[in-house]
Amino acid sequence: MYSNTYQKVASKCDEFSPFEQNDVFSNAVGETSVSCVNCEHFDSNHCGLDLYDKIVNEV
Ligand code: SF4
Repeated sequence: MYSNTYQKVASKCDEFSPFEQNDVFSNAVGETSVSCVNCEHFDSNHCGLDLYDKIVNEV
């Protein structure tokens, strides 16, 4: 699975919740990407809310 896919999924995910919110929202083009790997629901390479598998089929 490519990290690029994580970004696509997170950009379509309503539950995306980044670990470092200040960085994300104070920096429009910051280094902290909208990506599952930066999401607090992402655990052990798996979405804790089971949304990844649903969304990935749409991206
Ligand atoms: S880890 Fe899950 S909740 Fe977080 S952005 Fe990805 S699909 Fe959405």
